[in-house]
Amino acid sequence: MRELKNYIAGRWMASPKTFTKTSPFDGKPIATVHEATAEMVDEAVTKGRDVSVGKCAGEWGRKPLKERIAVIHDLGDRLLARVEDLVEADVADTGRSYWQARTFDGARAARLFRAYADAALTLEERSMAFQGEGGFQGMWYTTRRPKGVIGCISPWNVPLLMMSMKVAPALVMGNAAIAKPSEETPSSCTVLAEVIAESDLPDGVFSMVHGFGVGSAGEFLTSHQGVDAFTFTGESGTGSAIMKAAANGLREVSLELGGKNAALIFDDAEMDRVVEGVTRSAFFNCGQICFCTERAYVHRTRYDEFVGRITDVAKGIVIGDKGHNGFNIGPLVSKGHQDKVKDLLDTVAEDGGEFAAGGGIPAFGDERDGGSFIQPSVAVGLPEDARFVKQEAFGPVLHVAPFDDEDQAIALANDTGYGLATCIWTENINRAHRVAPQVRVGHAWVNSWQIRDLLSPLAAAGASGVGDQGGRLSLEFCSQPQTVTLRLFGANP
Ligand code: NAD
Repeated sequence: MRELKNYIAGRWMASPKTFTKTSPFDGKPIATVHEATAEMVDEAVTKGRDVSVGKCAGEWGRKPLKERIAVIHDLGDRLLARVEDLVEADVADTGRSYWQARTFDGARAARLFRAYADAALTLEERSMAFQGEGGFQGMWYTTRRPKGVIGCISPWNVPLLMMSMKVAPALVMGNAAIAKPSEETPSSCTVLAEVIAESDLPDGVFSMVHGFGVGSAGEFLTSHQGVDAFTFTGESGTGSAIMKAAANGLREVSLELGGKNAALIFDDAEMDRVVEGVTRSAFFNCGQICFCTERAYVHRTRYDEFVGRITDVAKGIVIGDKGHNGFNIGPLVSKGHQDKVKDLLDTVAEDGGEFAAGGGIPAFGDERDGGSFIQPSVAVGLPEDARFVKQEAFGPVLHVAPFDDEDQAIALANDTGYGLATCIWTENINRAHRVAPQVRVGHAWVNSWQIRDLLSPLAAAGASGVGDQGGRLSLEFCSQPQTVTLRLFGANP
């Protein structure tokens, strides 16, 4: 069994307290994880402040941007050289297939470091000459300085990618990053720490603390007044707890949270594309992507056709084959999550609906029966206030319901406290542009799902998030704007 330690200010640290990480594929233990103590978190934060903003400017924070970029470029290259280890780590922790981890996680996450370093060069400053009251001449210009220590708290669904989206912009802008990976997926972040340990990043610029949320590393980090800002992805309830903790000391937050996303399938939609797209949007990564579709609203004239086709697809999805080289799904991340999704599936009959596909836990007759698998499930016939229609499952589940006109479709999509994403399926480009701004979400896909430039803005409405991330927005969040104003003497009025 692997042993995963904390990486604090350039040193690997064991803890008197450990926990066992088990495989969601077969339930077997795969790693002993050292849970960071409050003292370790304190050391990470203290050293992080020294090297980022310090009492004066820190070693990393005052380094010229181009020199920081060179270090981050090199780090990205080192990560790419370890990409198979990163893939192996995420496959072990999540039970997903190699095809998925290689195509959507490993190299994609490693490349983010180079991408963020390059994006930082495009952050132009502003300046203006002006005449002040009393007739004096002045000029101002803006700069961006590091914020200090950024707490990076990530979920388990796409472990390395989610963490890289936080750590890369934090580092390139001159901050110290303290990574707190999910307790369910500690492995790939540990490989990231190994690579950073060998890179030219000064000690303390990056630390990693393992553990849980409440009463553990997560809370030690959010309650530490030396952390200047938090970038978090996870459940809405956790986001709310982190926002409360951050309010103590007026620290900033950027929160990417849950969703209950709707696909709107109009009467003119190209059904082959819809079925291919909704198959991915509902079931990819076993439904454990924040953008996943859990509600499909279909124009009544195409409803039966769509239900029939998505049901056939759902019944045929390959489950639990790590070597399968194409669309397939693995297990849910843990037994606890399997219980949560199964409980929600069980509400379907109670609330008056039925399953067209799935609805339970698959039986394999082999070691996978010790894992956390769930069937891809399509439910129909539920009222809009049913628990299955309202609550985020974060699993491979879809409820399908008909609509009669455009306004009704939009109203149904908006009938949720969340506001993350939608997919609009129509061949009418005018309708697509008309409907998209009326759906209260941060990201609307037209005739597609998750074709995504990772530097594009990622915003959210309602319980799906606070603050924006992605590309320039993440770089701005990870830096403090400053205006420098000077008086010009002898200038022409
Ligand atoms: P989670 O909120 O349970 O945990 C996320 C992280 O927060 C973990 O590292 C956890 O240890 C830590 N944590 C938990 N409680 C904490 C506390 N009180 N203080 C500090 N840290 C704490 O989320 P999860 O179950 O890992 O992930 C699934 C959720 O993430 C889903 O709701 C999903 O929609 C959401 N998600 C959102 C996005 C997005 O971009 N909007 C992307 C991926 C996942």
